Amino acid sequence: MTDENDGPVTGHSPNALAAVEAEIARACKDARRDRASVTLIAVSKTFDADAIIPVIDAGQRVFGENRVQEAKGKWPALTSVYPDIVLHLIGPLQSNKAKEAVALFDAIHSVDRPSICQALAKEIESQNKHPELFVQINTGEEPQKAGIAPGEADAFIASCRDTYGLTISGLMCIPPVDEPPAAHFALTAKIAARNGLTKLSMGMSADFANAIMLGATHVRVGSAIFGHR
Ligand SMILES: *Cc1c(COP(=O)(O)O)cnc(C)c1O
Repeated sequence: MTDENDGPVTGHSPNALAAVEAEIARACKDARRDRASVTLIAVSKTFDADAIIPVIDAGQRVFGENRVQEAKGKWPALTSVYPDIVLHLIGPLQSNKAKEAVALFDAIHSVDRPSICQALAKEIESQNKHPELFVQINTGEEPQKAGIAPGEADAFIASCRDTYGLTISGLMCIPPVDEPPAAHFALTAKIAARNGLTKLSMGMSADFANAIMLGATHVRVGSAIFGHR
């Protein structure tokens, strides 16, 4: 991959993307995994189209945003030019944003309570659109963080299916910032395995290689691609 942008403003991201790609490839090789088993989600939150377009032009098609409103403001114009863009919502979701979220996103990583399940089920049916759904696990049981407690995960995943008729693809976690992430990745993988879920959204700029070693199928990488926020 070559960097075709010489200017200081847009020159950073394509090189950084190539470096992230190389690290993913290396982690996959170390883990004896197929590169195709890991999806790189380029987290573009806070960055505008001028920063995003060079990354699209470098070949990246899967992007993540953490706010419905922000995504709604910048992505429709981009997806009309690049229709093969895939958008993931990785941030917390409010029930009153479920309609917009289902309309805009191809995947939602933050399913974590009955009110969200109910709102998503309603919108999935009325829009006949089926974003891939991940249940967020609060592996560190941090009070300020979204996600379902590990001890309640099995029952919640069952109720997503049985009560709300949702198809859950996998689990997502955000480990506590002040702890080594490996135990949190391993716990998330274990909960997924015993619930028959095959997708694991885990790993960010600082730890995505580690997450790949522990089974991540989706890594969410922001600052390593776009720079400091
Ligand atoms: C911002 C964000 C990321 C990306 O974080 P970086 O450290 O910039 O890679 C990943 N996941 C979630 C849920 C985020 O909000």
